[in-house]
Amino acid sequence: MSVIGFIGLGNMGLPMATNLLKANHALKVFDLNPVALETIGKLGATVSAHAIDASQDVDVVITMLPNGSIVESTYLGEHGILQQANREPIYIDCSTIAPESSKRIAEAANRHDLEVVDAPVSGGIMGAREGTLCFIVGGEAGTVGKINPILRAMGKTVIHAGGHGSGQLAKICNNLLAAVLMTGTAEALALGVRNGLSPRILSDVIRNSSGRNFMVERWNPWPGILPDVPSSHDYNGGFQVNLMLKDLGLALDCAQASQASVPLGALARNLFTLHGEADEDNPLSDISSIQKLYYPNPQQN
Ligand code: NAD
Repeated sequence: MSVIGFIGLGNMGLPMATNLLKANHALKVFDLNPVALETIGKLGATVSAHAIDASQDVDVVITMLPNGSIVESTYLGEHGILQQANREPIYIDCSTIAPESSKRIAEAANRHDLEVVDAPVSGGIMGAREGTLCFIVGGEAGTVGKINPILRAMGKTVIHAGGHGSGQLAKICNNLLAAVLMTGTAEALALGVRNGLSPRILSDVIRNSSGRNFMVERWNPWPGILPDVPSSHDYNGGFQVNLMLKDLGLALDCAQASQASVPLGALARNLFTLHGEADEDNPLSDISSIQKLYYPNPQQN
């Protein structure tokens, strides 16, 4: 059993932290949202008043935060957690941020003789709940070996992608593809429904044909096809459009810096931007709500 500090208890962090409690780890937690703290507190975690408190007297600190500027200020800011380490914990940042941000954090950790990895995840909220996430880790091989048992309490796959920032790089490439798959799936379903097909039957066809993909099988954007996905709950929960826009922005920045061409990623980013601008709820809705850009009012099936 380890004592783990967990900072960031949103759509992903809360179920991940819950799985750590189920695996009998002790948790010290912090989030800006008191409701999330209350929920995890009732499950047995110790609620902290600040990020620094949650990272004191622990063996490992896990962060699961929205974006790079929040992650950098949490680690490196005036009251940053790296400066306050009293037990030399290993730091695991599971947020999706720019590889350069992860490298800056790793350089600072190195100056304090502390171990850190970037360990963004894939698998969505379903994977977080079920404990089947894939961790894509950047950092020293020795550190990855030490944290493996903790990651496996929250996921079933741990892949060491390379040095610091490599986890982020691989994750950004994956999310570019995920955005293309989600828009493509929504496009195909809307085309079929407009021409009289049942979205359920068309989903069945795609699942058993060459268009088969994760979105149609596990994150179907048409309401009512799968019971426990955001589309069946008015597109609530899941992976917010604004987080996908952040990740596509990271991918495009990376492409610009490396002179790579990413036309499908750029198109997907434009589609999600148009969708996000259409009404004020869209940026906070799950990415599967892109279905509404193609078919304004998809009915439960
Ligand atoms: P979220 O917005 O649901 O949760 C973020 C949490 O961080 C919130 O509870 C918020 O209150 C908290 N927070 C914000 N600033 C904070 C601060 N300074 N100190 C402490 N807590 C703070 O986001 P999420 O969907 O859980 O995503 C978290 C990260 O995981 C993002 O980087 C996202 O890109 C990545 N991710 C999300 C998914 C998904 O399906 N949702 C999948 C893979 C990766």
